[in-house]
Amino acid sequence: MRKGLFIVISGPSGVGKGTICDILMKNKNIDLEYSVSMTTREKRDYEKEGVHYYFTNKTNFEKKIRNNEFVEYAIYNNEYYGTLKSEILSKINDGKNIISEIDVQGAKQIKKDFKNSLLIYLLPPSMKELKNRLIKRGTETSEEIEERLKIAVIENKNTYLYDYVVINDNLENAIKEIENIIKNKIIDNR
Ligand code: 5GP
Repeated sequence: MRKGLFIVISGPSGVGKGTICDILMKNKNIDLEYSVSMTTREKRDYEKEGVHYYFTNKTNFEKKIRNNEFVEYAIYNNEYYGTLKSEILSKINDGKNIISEIDVQGAKQIKKDFKNSLLIYLLPPSMKELKNRLIKRGTETSEEIEERLKIAVIENKNTYLYDYVVINDNLENAIKEIENIIKNKIIDNR
């Protein structure tokens, strides 16, 4: 049986990765399974355990690193984020296509380890718009927003690592573009 695709969606905080993944899953135009990551960062009010993330503490995360339980993990803004083997490996081996929001460090690892990967980088139309979206989201303090914007500048220099770069200016168009990219890759993968 053919292995499923490991689809990675990266891009700066606030660019719309979560919204886009939610819509792709709801549209059901493509057979996709969402990979829930593990993190040590604090849960946002609207987030649900096991839906948006598996939330844990640093001690437990580090224990899982030692036990080799992650496909990849990274430290972003002083917190751990990682993809658990238990979350994705059996699904990919069963031919299911997995979609995951992963930062640039993790994406590099996936590109190296998975032949069937598809890496998509989402860019905002401008840094000013990115800042507006982060302010509108209202989940971070102004200091945290500034920190995330600084990280974004560094992250955006890595687009060359990706198979595709999509600008999330108009949400509907970005979704269509991403759906087409994934559909074509699935055809290639047959
Ligand atoms: P946030 O705190 O905004 O939810 O996520 C911060 C960053 O961590 C984002 O760039 C997001 O894509 C990334 N991220 C989320 N889950 C994972 C993961 O499992 N692995 C890695 N490497 N990055 C992740």
